[in-house]
Order: sequence, then structure tokens, then C-alpha cells
Amino acid sequence: SNFSQLGLSSSLLDALQDLDFKTPSEIQRKAIPILTDGPCDFIGLAQTGTGKTAAFGLPLLESLDIENPSTQALILSPTRELAQQTAKGLQSFAKFLPKIRIQAVYGGAAITEQIRGLKKETHVIVATPGRLIDLIKRKSVKLNNIEKVVLDEADEMLNMGFKEDLNKILAFTPQEKSTWLFSATMPPAIKSIVHEYMQDPVEVSV
Ligand code: AMP
Repeated sequence: SNFSQLGLSSSLLDALQDLDFKTPSEIQRKAIPILTDGPCDFIGLAQTGTGKTAAFGLPLLESLDIENPSTQALILSPTRELAQQTAKGLQSFAKFLPKIRIQAVYGGAAITEQIRGLKKETHVIVATPGRLIDLIKRKSVKLNNIEKVVLDEADEMLNMGFKEDLNKILAFTPQEKSTWLFSATMPPAIKSIVHEYMQDPVEVSV
């Protein structure tokens, strides 16, 4: 099985070739056909290092409307390192989609530079919750046109005490959207997020 059978466009396939991604990982094989098929809520049970960035990143990029200048997708990450790494991964997948702009925002770095970045057309934001709240308060981000929210390493985000920030952030996003949750584990706190924020999610486990 290879990537060309998963319903991805040629600009993404060309980027994967340049990255030397030859064979999709299990989570990629299982998630990509579902996530490219149309709006849906999705739960991916996968550890780190299993290739989940491409599993959600490729369908997310595929779904963006390049002619639409608003921020259409939000990825929430528990840590600055993961946010940076995810943005970098998405950027590499978007190599042949030059109009797509991805902005990472996270704590522990100058906010002014991130605000400057957000003033440009930004299709995708990769954020840690605390910094994003800060930017929402400063009116530097608009989440009213978000169509997709990815909760990456959701169990880690809850372990780090981000539940309340998560609630606040999601309240700024439209009711009608796709929510894709990735987690290594499914403790009750995650089940309650699923119950609160997702509808008939498709679940995939690797
Ligand atoms: P992730 O779990 O998304 O952080 O990916 C873990 C590492 O595996 C990253 O360095 C990716 O670039 C790499 N990777 C992910 N999927 C593939 C693939 N299908 N082929 C080759 N490398 C991959």
C-alpha cells in the first residue's frame, strides 16, 4: 500500500516523495481515507512517533480553501516543542502548496513576533493553549471561521491542566466543525471531552 491510494492530491504526493515517505504508517493508512472523505469527528488512538502528524496533517491541508484568507484549521498541542514540530511537519507537506500559511504560536517566546505573523493571511494555526488564550484576549486571532480543530496528544493536554483553557478556546470556534482528537490513552477525562465536543466520532486505534 502506498500514499497514492489514500485519496491525496498530487501536490501532497509530490511533497511526500521529496520527504522520502514511501509507505504510509498504520495510523496514516487507517485515518487518511476517513479524514479526506468529508467532515467528521474523529478519534485516533495512537502513541507519539506513529506518524500521526501526517495522518491528520495531510487531510487537513487537502481540505483548505486557498482562496479563503481566513484561519480554517486550529491544531492544539500540549507543548511548545510539539507545536513547533507539527508546524514544521505541515510546512514540509505543504511544500507545493505555496499559498498556504501556517503559523505556530506557543509560550516561552516573544508574543510580538507571533502577533506580526498572525496579521498576515494565516490558514492554519498550531498553538499551545495558554498562548492562544493570550492571543485571543489581544484580538490577534479570529477563530470564527475554523472548520477543523485537532486536539493533538489530548491526554497530555489534560495532564498539563489545560482543560479549562480548552473549554475557553473551543467556545470561540463555530459549533459546526470537525474535531479530530488524537490521544495515546482514553481516560475518563478524554471520554468526557469526546462527549462534550464531538458527535458520532469515528474511532481508529493502532
Ligand atoms: P510523528 O509521529 O508524526 O511525529 O512522526 C514520527 C516520525 O516519523 C517523523 O520524523 C516523521 O517525519 C516520520 N514519518 C511519519 N510517517 C512516515 C512515513 N510514512 N514514512 C517515513 N517517515 C515517516
